[in-house]
Amino acid sequence: MEQTKRILILGAGFGGLTAANILRKNLSNVHKIIVIDKNKSFMMGLVNLWILYGTRKLQDSFIPLANLANKGIEFINDEIIEIDFTKNSISTKFRGKFDYDYLIISLGSELAPEKIDGFIENGGFNLYDARQMPELRQKILSLNKGNIAICIADIPYKCPPAPYEASMLVNDLIVKNGTRDHINIDFYAPSALALPVAGPDVSLRLVSLLKMNNINFHPLHKIKRVVSNDLIEFENGNNAKFDLLIGIPPHKVPAVIRECEITKAGDWIMVDKFTLKTTYDNVFAIGDVTEIALGGMVTIPKAGIFAEAQAKVVAQEIIDQITNTKTRAKFDGKGFCFMEVGSNEAGYIEVDLYGEDPYTQLHPPSRESYRKKLDFEETRVKNWLF
Ligand SMILES: Cc1cc2nc3c(=O)[nH]c(=O)nc-3n(C[C@H](O)[C@H](O)[C@H](O)COP(=O)(O)OP(=O)(O)OC[C@H]3O[C@@H](n4cnc5c(N)ncnc54)[C@H](O)[C@@H]3O)c2cc1C
Repeated sequence: MEQTKRILILGAGFGGLTAANILRKNLSNVHKIIVIDKNKSFMMGLVNLWILYGTRKLQDSFIPLANLANKGIEFINDEIIEIDFTKNSISTKFRGKFDYDYLIISLGSELAPEKIDGFIENGGFNLYDARQMPELRQKILSLNKGNIAICIADIPYKCPPAPYEASMLVNDLIVKNGTRDHINIDFYAPSALALPVAGPDVSLRLVSLLKMNNINFHPLHKIKRVVSNDLIEFENGNNAKFDLLIGIPPHKVPAVIRECEITKAGDWIMVDKFTLKTTYDNVFAIGDVTEIALGGMVTIPKAGIFAEAQAKVVAQEIIDQITNTKTRAKFDGKGFCFMEVGSNEAGYIEVDLYGEDPYTQLHPPSRESYRKKLDFEETRVKNWLF
C-alpha cells in the first residue's frame, strides 16, 4: 500500500491554487493536500483595475476558498504564525500545528503604505487594495479639474505593467466622463526606465503609449513623503501638486517569513532559479515571496503568470518524487501579461527572461488581447475553484 504523504501549501493565491489543483489531479487520494490561507476567498489582483474602471463590482469578485473541498483539497482558513523547518511543521493562530512531508511556500507579498511618510494621513489611495477601488472610482468621477498623481513608491512591486495600465484606464474613464480637458495625469516612477525588467525598447514604447494618452511620465521620481493633502516631495528634491493621489505602496516579505530563518533578515526567499527548491529538504518557495536574480538590479517580476509557472514545476517535482518518476520539470523564465488601455482594448507583453539574449516584446493594443485577458481570469478561476 502507498504510504500517505502530506503536502502543505501555504497561501491560496495564484501559485498555491495552481499547485494544489495539479497535485490533486495527479496523486491518489491516499495523499493529503492541504491549503492554508488567512483569507476566506480568492480574488485575482487584476480584478482591482476592473473595479476601478467599472466593469466589475467589488462584491462580485470574491470566490470562496471553501470550494476547494469539493475537489478533494483540504482548506484551512487560518493565519500561519510559525514555520519550523527542523521539525517539518508549521503553526497557525487558531488550529495549532500541521506536519508536512512536502511544503510549498506561496505566501505572496505584503503591502506597506505606512512606509510612505504622510501617504495614509493625506488621503492617498492604495491601487493594490481592492477594497479602496469603489471609493477611488467615485473620487475620480467627481473630480472636475486638477491633477491626478500616480506614484510607484519602490521596486519590486507586483505586476510591473499594472500601474501603467491603471493610468490608461483612469484616462479613458475621465475622457468618457467629459472631464479630461481639465485634469492632468502625472505618472511618477522611481526608476529611469518605465519597465526595467522589460528593457529600454519596451519601456520607450510604453512611454509613447502614455504620451498618446496625454499622461506625463516622470522617471527617477521616488516619493520621499506626502507633505500635505495636496503636495508630494520626491527624493530628487522636486515637489508636485495633486488633487488625487494614487500610490503603489512598497512591498514587503510576509511577517511569518520575515521572522524565520529561511530569509536573511527579512529578505525575499532565495530559491534555485529552475527548481524553486529552498535550502531545506522538500521545501519549495514560489511566486511573489521569492527573489530570483537575473543580473544587475533585475529580478523575476512579481506576477501571477510566473507564480503559476513555478507552481507547475514544483507540483511536478513532488509528483515525480511520490510516484517515482523523472520528469525533471524546470522553470523557463517565460511569461506574458496583458495591459488594458480602455475601450475594450489591451496591449500584450511577452518575456523570455532566461534566454541567452532575454527577449521582451510589447504588442500594440487590440480587441483580441482584451478578450484573451478576460479569458485569462475566467478560465483560471474556473479550473482552480469550481
Ligand atoms: C492590480 C494588480 C494587477 C495585477 N495584474 C496581473 C496580471 O495581469 N498578470 C499577472 O500575472 N499578475 C498580475 N498581478 C500580480 C499577481 O496578482 C501576483 O503576482 C500573484 O498573485 C502572486 O501570486 P502568489 O501565489 O505568489 O501570491 P498571492 O497570490 O498574493 O497569494 C498569497 C496568499 O498568501 C496568503 N497569506 C499571506 N500570509 C499569510 C499567513 N501568514 N497566513 C495565511 N495566509 C497568508 C494571502 O492571504 C494570499 O492569499 C496583479 C496584481 C495587482 C495588485
